[in-house]
Amino acid sequence: MNHKQALKHNIFEIISQSAEELQLDCFVIGGFVRDYFLERGNAKDIDIVAIGSGIELAQQVSKNLPHQPKVQVFKTYGTAMLRYDDIEIEFVGARKESYIEDSRNPVVEDGTLEDDQNRRDFTINALALSLNKDNFGELLDPFNGIEDLDKGIIRTPLDPNITYSDDPLRMMRAIRFATQLNFTIEEKSLNAIKKNKDRIKIITKERIVVELNKILESDTPSIGFMLLEKTGLLDYILPELTALKGIDEIEGQRHKDNFYHTLEVVDNIAKTTDSLWLRWAALLHDIGKAPTKKFHKKIGWTFHAHEFVGSKMVYKLFKRLKMPLNDKMKFVQKMVLMSSRPIVLASEVTDSAVRRLIFDAGEHVDDLMTLCEADITTKNPKKFKRYHKNFKLVRDKIEEVEERDRVRNFQPPVSGEEIMKAFNLKPSKEIGIIKDAIKEAILEGEIPNEHEAAFQLMIEKGKELGLTTA
Ligand code: ATP
Repeated sequence: MNHKQALKHNIFEIISQSAEELQLDCFVIGGFVRDYFLERGNAKDIDIVAIGSGIELAQQVSKNLPHQPKVQVFKTYGTAMLRYDDIEIEFVGARKESYIEDSRNPVVEDGTLEDDQNRRDFTINALALSLNKDNFGELLDPFNGIEDLDKGIIRTPLDPNITYSDDPLRMMRAIRFATQLNFTIEEKSLNAIKKNKDRIKIITKERIVVELNKILESDTPSIGFMLLEKTGLLDYILPELTALKGIDEIEGQRHKDNFYHTLEVVDNIAKTTDSLWLRWAALLHDIGKAPTKKFHKKIGWTFHAHEFVGSKMVYKLFKRLKMPLNDKMKFVQKMVLMSSRPIVLASEVTDSAVRRLIFDAGEHVDDLMTLCEADITTKNPKKFKRYHKNFKLVRDKIEEVEERDRVRNFQPPVSGEEIMKAFNLKPSKEIGIIKDAIKEAILEGEIPNEHEAAFQLMIEKGKELGLTTA
């Protein structure tokens, strides 16, 4: 069967023409072809394999394009890239690869299309469509990739033990594709991943995190984390999570399995937000529970201060995985630290408690509520309904209080300068004391968040401190 309709974009015609001018064969391969058959929308990344020089083909294509876009050449890899019409097109010469033990970078030599398909990670990623004039649009599928697409199976073209050992990043990619596409990893492959799991050590943290992020960004991230756990990879990548596994029982008292609970929370939050960092917060919100777990005869299991301990662990974890130690990390820390605050509120929603919550969470108060709602994993329908109803009340109250008091991005209504001027003061600790008293009075609802009331309180507090007005 011919698949010309996949190649409707005029770029394919131009690549085909350019290849003919150079008298070489070329094919579109990999993700673009896979996603076409899966009807996963328009791919913005196109991979072209040339039987010959990929770099020369890229240069010829550029010549034949209206504005001769710049060709970026990566000499070491023998690849070239150009952009056209919002699309990134990568060109590579067909190659044959062989690997040495301690590197995922292969020794490369020129090869045929078959050689090149052999070096691909999965059968569904080895599909190629011809761009040659005589069979334009013909599918080349030597490993029954189409059948695997239909059945939803992740399978390697060659012996999985060799495929994963050669480039252990493929283990992460297998699990990532299984998660994104809701596919099953073939048993032989899954066993090979279990066997080769320790090889993940030769992969850089940055690359592992790229795959973790893609898993987290999927519709059902738990698929990936379950597979990472089952294969033993999670123990190496995120031991903080595997430490949450298991249920202890002492004197008939049990606590929930916080690992599976966490995965439920992540799946829940994936339904309500696309924010990668809020999803990270959901994944890590309970990590402090493993090191803080204790059993007390009278009260049972406790995880005292797990939110605080967890937020400290976030920093170490981000650092270890070479993730950004910037405002994203701080956001995740803050969500973990505050993750139990709205729960306390849900039983008694007072204005001042809500004001404090808004003040502490600042612009992230809505994200915090989203996290807490996702945290409701009770299987008791009555409780489920009640908890959600309570959080809805908290959300309504947040809106009401915020509209009136505007403490989300709190700015002191009386500035330090104004205090200095009023009492003819130099910078001193009294200014801090007065500012704090004003903030506290606003949060407690004793005065409105307005200049005049705050000014009055400043005068009173100043008098209490023995200051005289200027
Ligand atoms: P996505 O864009 O969702 O990441 P993709 O399949 O396009 O999917 P790329 O990383 O762009 O992913 O890779 C393009 C193609 O290169 C793949 O489809 C696959 O054929 C091949 N490939 C990528 N990484 C590897 C690898 N580690 N081992 C073998 N083949 C790979």
